[in-house]
Amino acid sequence: MGIVKTSRTYLDYNATAPVRAEVAGVVADVLANVGNASSVHTEGQAARGRIEAARSQVAQLVGAAPKDIIFTSGGTEAINLAIQGLAKIGTVSRILVSGVEHPCVLAAANATGLPVEIVAVTTDGAVELAALEANLAKPDAGPALVCVMLANNETGCVQPVAQAAKIAHGHESFILVDAVQAAGKINVDFAALGADMMALSAHKIGGVIGTGGLVVRDGLELAPLITGGGQEQGRRGGTENIAGIAGFGTAADAAYSDLSKMAELGVLRDRLEEELAIISPDHVIFAKAVERLPNTSCFAHAGIAAETSLIALDLDGIAVSSGSACSSGKVSISPVLTAMGVEQELARGALRVSLGHGSTKQDVDRFITAWKKILARHNKSAAA
Ligand code: PLP
Repeated sequence: MGIVKTSRTYLDYNATAPVRAEVAGVVADVLANVGNASSVHTEGQAARGRIEAARSQVAQLVGAAPKDIIFTSGGTEAINLAIQGLAKIGTVSRILVSGVEHPCVLAAANATGLPVEIVAVTTDGAVELAALEANLAKPDAGPALVCVMLANNETGCVQPVAQAAKIAHGHESFILVDAVQAAGKINVDFAALGADMMALSAHKIGGVIGTGGLVVRDGLELAPLITGGGQEQGRRGGTENIAGIAGFGTAADAAYSDLSKMAELGVLRDRLEEELAIISPDHVIFAKAVERLPNTSCFAHAGIAAETSLIALDLDGIAVSSGSACSSGKVSISPVLTAMGVEQELARGALRVSLGHGSTKQDVDRFITAWKKILARHNKSAAA
């Protein structure tokens, strides 16, 4: 008996984006061919060619030199490599983490055993540059690794990374930029931002889950997290995941071409938020006053808990998220919203809608229709 499939509307691109058709094609092609990129024969060299082509494609997306990219198993590994790799060399004596970083940043920082401090953010979720400056200027504190993401996964808030990099470098410190959510959604320029390291992930741009990369500025010494057969210039051991890497390159290429379409997604997102304001003035949209990713909307309505609305939307065929997917399974209050000073009761209702390359006006309309039903039920029970 076949499974009855209801049509679904997927609005959770920040959790993971659907694999692009061209990526699936490239992955299938790689899998159909044998070859280890370290082998000197024709098959091996063809595999090597795939990896180097992907390196150039990913480099183009983020304004980096191909040789500065190390392929990893994803954003989490890239961030661990950056933080633990630098700490192991002994280049830094402490780590400063913005209050809205992805949980893997804080976990990797704590794993080094070095002192870790949180840098405060504004109520819109942007890092407090004055607080960063004051911290770095502390006498005798030693050089720090500063971790500031380019765009937040929950609110979409775009951080003042270029300024943070300038401040860090002014105090003989270093900056790691988590661009996992920003790449493919806004212009990202590793060189212009002045980053020392930048983390990337394939599955946020239509590549395959389990592939990512770390961009490391020329000349920066980094100890490997995984030692092995000298792959990735000795910075990441292990036979390369050629299918995943080739898919990452293809996804990066497509995302680069799609950058010009991001403004259209922004129009869709803005329409969604305009509709919310019309339906009820009691909606709060987080980080609305600052620059955000064009695809992301994070909002709440007082009195409507996210666990209720997530399930109702899912039953209606719509997939969205309540804050970070990495902590989902259980709906807990978002540390990002907490760092922004959002009242706990309101934060409990936070929903994240994130659009992407496959999103349409119909998707947004369907979401609004379903949300209206949830609000009507809420109003009815509140009036009873
Ligand atoms: N950083 C941010 C901002 C993310 O959103 C995520 C994933 O959700 C990661 C890092 C981790 O990336 P990956 O899933 O490739 O390990």
